[in-house]
Amino acid sequence: MSRMSEEQSRVLRWPLAVPLVSRWLPAATFDLRELMAIRVDIQNERFAEGAAPAGNILIDATDNFETRFLLNRLAHASGRHLVSGAASGWTGQVSVFASGRIAEAPCYACWVPEMPPAAEGCDEVGVVGAITGMTGSAMALEAVKLITGAGDPLIGRILLIDGLRAEMRTARLRKDSQCPVCSI
Ligand SMILES: [Zn+2]
Repeated sequence: MSRMSEEQSRVLRWPLAVPLVSRWLPAATFDLRELMAIRVDIQNERFAEGAAPAGNILIDATDNFETRFLLNRLAHASGRHLVSGAASGWTGQVSVFASGRIAEAPCYACWVPEMPPAAEGCDEVGVVGAITGMTGSAMALEAVKLITGAGDPLIGRILLIDGLRAEMRTARLRKDSQCPVCSI
């Protein structure tokens, strides 16, 4: 059997998010083919030209900060919710950003204003597959809550998953009054 491509490996890191969310999205809030097209657009930095996807919710399951920052700018500018998740090593993080819809809500850049060193990337430090499963499930749950209006989405909060301690907790995220994305 041939060695798994890097792209296939990335897809396998998110084993649960797509089927769990897709079940709740008969109206095709997102389409996997469209997401792949978005990726191409991101690589070509075509968001600014209006190459925006359809749907009201953006789900960021990417593994690089360039894409995260671009998706955040798109979500803010277009007034979409952004369900954001990240997993690295034994930990995962999930939040919902709604700065384009709620004035006092922070955006992703309020939390991560600058690109961290490349050494912190998932490709370098690795990630436990079960953590991506937990993170993807939590993201899917947030998307379902946004669609159905149930519960309290993680707007202005971040869910922190600590696999080694078997703990999950939430922390507050503050809006940055100097944020170049959502406070200008
Ligand atoms: Zn911001």
